[in-house]
Amino acid sequence: MSDVIRSQELFQRALAVSPGGVNSPVRAFRAVGGAPRFMRSGSGAWLTDVDGNDYVDLVGSWGPMLLGHAHPEVLAAVADAVSRGTSFGTPSEPEVALAEEIVARTPVESVRLVSSGTEATMSAIRLARGATGRDTVVKFAGCYHGHVDSLLAEAGSGVVTLGIPGTPGVPAHVAADTVVLPYNDRDAVTAAFAELGDRIACVITEAAPGNMGVVPPEPGFNAFLAATCRQNGALLISDEVMTGFRASRHGQWGLDGAVEGWAPDLMTFGKVMGGGFPAAAFGGRAELMNLLAPAGPVYQAGTLAGNPVATTAGLTTLRLATPAVYEHLLDVSNRLQAAVGEALTTAGVRHAVQRTGTMFSVFWGTDEVRDFAGAQAQEAWRYPPFFHAMLDAGVYLPPSAFEAWFVSAAHDEEALSRIIEALPGAARAAA
Ligand code: PLP
Repeated sequence: MSDVIRSQELFQRALAVSPGGVNSPVRAFRAVGGAPRFMRSGSGAWLTDVDGNDYVDLVGSWGPMLLGHAHPEVLAAVADAVSRGTSFGTPSEPEVALAEEIVARTPVESVRLVSSGTEATMSAIRLARGATGRDTVVKFAGCYHGHVDSLLAEAGSGVVTLGIPGTPGVPAHVAADTVVLPYNDRDAVTAAFAELGDRIACVITEAAPGNMGVVPPEPGFNAFLAATCRQNGALLISDEVMTGFRASRHGQWGLDGAVEGWAPDLMTFGKVMGGGFPAAAFGGRAELMNLLAPAGPVYQAGTLAGNPVATTAGLTTLRLATPAVYEHLLDVSNRLQAAVGEALTTAGVRHAVQRTGTMFSVFWGTDEVRDFAGAQAQEAWRYPPFFHAMLDAGVYLPPSAFEAWFVSAAHDEEALSRIIEALPGAARAAA
């Protein structure tokens, strides 16, 4: 690795004009120390920083880059779309085609496109409240659904990485309408409905949490949530912003709902479906979605929603994400899981590699994590030396022990070799 002088200079400039020097907290190296790397370009599985160092990327822009960076067919489709104009503020064909693709690959019948996952969950909650005439929202500790006021309580991702205790800036009356329960805890859900049943508008859950590290739902947990909501006149919002078109070709729902024969009332999507551009969506049964303006009274809107360039990138990505791509992702995930496990075991580091489909992460100093308390109890202090050893060896991991690792269709033998060679030294650094 050569130096990181340009990154450090840019970080100083950024600190002078931006809070914390970043435009999203998780990009900072707060939990691992040091200046974040400023990336100049990406190609396939690789990133190159402004100092010319290259890295195998296991962050994938926090999930979207399922096909790898600068995929030639995605770039060509985007260039073609851009050449015809970048935003019209009218309906356009790519947004219809993207909605059709989402409807074809998930149980939703109707979708509204938005520009970020946060907008998707915020709007889904408004719709659930509008549909039920109730205010209370149930969420699970350690799940992150974007920076929506009512959903920041005991959230995962950057909120846990930075150890932010409460939710400064969120009015008390908004927080009062959010009930936070332990993940994977059916008794807690049953008790909450017994006490508040006729006030609960919805339960929102990550379809498989990835924002406290990967904590898969115990078998039947999501089906239980769907049934409990149905029995109590509440709606289940399954947040697939991270898992959608990632955990499997049909998201986490493809691994449980499709097999068990149930569907959430509402779903949210983002990341992969935008192909590296700002595009997200929420959807559900047509009868529910038709409560949205202009079909119905629940208002929701967006100047750039369904943007033709973003939807073209997303549509092209989804079309290229064939079953063969998911087989490759699964194979790469299996091999990395085995390699990480072997390196850490050899170094004597107790750990758990947790998976759902093609998504995985590592927990430190524990054998299993099934909820947020377990994730927080891990030996997160082992992660910074591991992270920096990997970074120095040219592997870019998420700068936090509470995040999922993402592979892409472009992770080939060369990329895997770089990672596998780096692992033993990094594992020793974590011991
Ligand atoms: N929901 C989940 C499950 C997420 O992982 C994220 C982002 O990481 C969001 C919602 C928010 O998405 P965005 O960052 O696009 O607002």
